[in-house]
Amino acid sequence: MTNKQILKKAIEQAKKNGWYSNEEIKVTIFVRRLPKIIVGDINDPKEYLSINDVIFSHDFAKAFWGEQSEDIFKCKCNPTNYYYTFKFCSKCGEKLIKSKRILKSWEKPLQQMVLSEEPLKYLEQFL
Ligand SMILES: [Zn+2]
Repeated sequence: MTNKQILKKAIEQAKKNGWYSNEEIKVTIFVRRLPKIIVGDINDPKEYLSINDVIFSHDFAKAFWGEQSEDIFKCKCNPTNYYYTFKFCSKCGEKLIKSKRILKSWEKPLQQMVLSEEPLKYLEQFL
């Protein structure tokens, strides 16, 4: 898929879950081929958003990935480091224990996407 197709599909998916659900959203290519997202009537837009405004926002991520609670795990050797699966610590090899902190299902993918070199390609795998 092209970046524009990925964006369009991702936006459809988020809209179904309540993100700007009552607004018309258009993905348009503007100057310097930078895609912009227009909220509302294209002739009388309410907002112009950049790709990063959209895909890195918490509201979009919540609608796109959902807000279910997920358990996360940690190890005694490094209490500030969290793991997403119930396995063994990659540093010391000890069994991980369940953390008191609860993770929402959108938090991890949003974090990964922000760190990835091509955020839209990262998003594509969830479409
Ligand atoms: Zn450890």
